[in-house]
Amino acid sequence: MRLVTLDGGVLGGIIGDGVVALRPALAAAQRAAGEDPRDTIPDDMVALIGDEAAMVAAGRALAFAARAENGALRAPLSEARLLAPLKPGKILGVGRNYGDHAKEAGGPKLEMPKIFLKPTSSVVGPGAAVRIPPAVKKADWEVELGVVIGRPARNVSEGVALDYVAGYTVLDDISAREFQFDVPLAMTSFAKGMDGFCPIGPCIATADEVGEPWALDVRCWLNGEEVQHGNTRDLIFPVATLIAFLSRYMTLEPGDVIATGTPAGVGHFRDPPRYLTSGDRLRMEVERVGVLEHTIA
Ligand code: ZN
Repeated sequence: MRLVTLDGGVLGGIIGDGVVALRPALAAAQRAAGEDPRDTIPDDMVALIGDEAAMVAAGRALAFAARAENGALRAPLSEARLLAPLKPGKILGVGRNYGDHAKEAGGPKLEMPKIFLKPTSSVVGPGAAVRIPPAVKKADWEVELGVVIGRPARNVSEGVALDYVAGYTVLDDISAREFQFDVPLAMTSFAKGMDGFCPIGPCIATADEVGEPWALDVRCWLNGEEVQHGNTRDLIFPVATLIAFLSRYMTLEPGDVIATGTPAGVGHFRDPPRYLTSGDRLRMEVERVGVLEHTIA
């Protein structure tokens, strides 16, 4: 499934070039089967992905809406206004997690993942016009695979870590580089935590839809020019390792998001450096997950 949050907080799913609201589709499926309508779709995405029975109901709703004769349940995706697919409880970022990006950034070889936090208040949805604070002169882009947790994870081993994943999304880990590199001590969470600095979306592609996340292409275009192109096979600490590591120290809850790091090609390490400015258009794609687009206001 490709789950989305529609305008007004309505939960939905993508089918081809159409979008389906889950509640009416489930009710229609139940009516068609002669069942009493029973609404088992929760009010928000975090509750949905954390509830196995609700996920089964969502799958049933989408399968019913996908049938040729049920076109009335589908609306054009191009006309839908999507919000961020979820409001994460916490967003855990991972620094320097691709070999080529670690090389462009320099510094020591990491023995364990470099973790920071992005606040939920930095989340915006697909199509957002992100306002960079006027005092920030070095805003930069980072396309990332986002891992969405589906079950509470505490002390899980690498071998079973992917069982705790609800799905995947695309995110832009926008970073004010002056607070990472131009201050005596890096202020990573602050640099990456400003309002709007975490565009997420367009959907949560469920784990069964994506398969194992070992070799997904990750790409970013700035104003139509490809500026990043990596692959998750080059992650220094892969998804399962990150979940196992983090869950030794903190409980990962349904709806938590891990921003797994960005490949080479960010603006700061270019010669000359390049930073985001008003009017910039970003297009970010993770293979089999989706395309996230947003602009800079
Ligand atoms: Zn990042």
